[in-house]
Amino acid sequence: MKRSTFLKWKLRQASFITRALLSKNHPVLAHVIPMRRCNLACGYCNEYDKVSQPVPLEEMKKRLDKLADLGTSIITISGGEPLMHPQLDDIIRHIRKRGMIAGLISNGYYFTPERIRRLNEAGLDALQISIDNVEPDEVSKKSLKNLDKKLQLLAEHANFHININSVIGGGIKTPEDALTIAKRAVELGFSSTVGVIHDHDGTLKPLTEREKEIFQQVKKLGNKDHARLNWFQDSIAEGKPYEWRCRAGARYLYICEDGLVHWCSQQRGYPGTPLADYTMEDFRREYYSEKWCAPTCTLQCVHQVGILDNWRDPQKPVPLTRSDKPKAKEPVGEMLSVE
Ligand code: SF4
Ligand code: SF4
Repeated sequence: MKRSTFLKWKLRQASFITRALLSKNHPVLAHVIPMRRCNLACGYCNEYDKVSQPVPLEEMKKRLDKLADLGTSIITISGGEPLMHPQLDDIIRHIRKRGMIAGLISNGYYFTPERIRRLNEAGLDALQISIDNVEPDEVSKKSLKNLDKKLQLLAEHANFHININSVIGGGIKTPEDALTIAKRAVELGFSSTVGVIHDHDGTLKPLTEREKEIFQQVKKLGNKDHARLNWFQDSIAEGKPYEWRCRAGARYLYICEDGLVHWCSQQRGYPGTPLADYTMEDFRREYYSEKWCAPTCTLQCVHQVGILDNWRDPQKPVPLTRSDKPKAKEPVGEMLSVE
């Protein structure tokens, strides 16, 4: 990333944080899904299919316009694999045209010098790639071995911020991988973050002593702001619930490929209102609703958005009307730090 772009990026970040602290009446971050389809099939993932078509560009623009009209600061494009969308560059251009920050979460497989150049031109601000292991295995092919050449291309050509996220916990076979991945990210000039995930049955279990040690080392290597914003991870690492106010449905929005608003990727179905019909009344109801899944939630980006309002406006419990239970184990590929 060029120094001039870096400084502009930092200024825009400072501006959206100040705005979010001064006013609580707009969404800070929205995840949008222009493409549910993915080229990979990670064993833990519940966020992809192999058949769906891209959301048409005009429809995506309408959704982005609505989010801009609600005052949204950051749009993160997620999936599936968003680089499979044939008009991804136009989607990014539209986000920037409407004055919002454009982020992207990708598995990294489609990057070429030409593709990176097009993303530079479209005005992409930030990219996150999650890498699950050093060597590919039967669960995940998002491995350092498969992606290292792509990372080198990004280091050479990208003019946007790049964060590499690794994961620890959840029964991941080689915890040392998280450290290897974070070291490589730093070596290439990227920022690095680490996500603590639940065990494969979705329960909160403390990390082992070895995992804790590696977790601390990876945190030290990574972005200091990010470490400061992720206190909740220390509780999760100890296997303890964390008390916070999740503002999903208000300050954080998840817009699925059908254009419906959901709390987040792991709580799809509620409120399930079409974005086109979403009003400030919906926003306020969700802002003040205590989420029953909050104490064990590990979604970094929603926690970080929550920090902006944790000090104000207590929430009330939402009556449980749904029969489904918390799906506590999130896909590791869909977290974007807002630091
Ligand atoms: S985690 Fe990401 S790369 Fe893997 S299947 Fe899910 S959407 Fe695709
Ligand atoms: S899973 Fe996390 S982000 Fe989603 S609604 Fe529950 S507490 Fe909020």
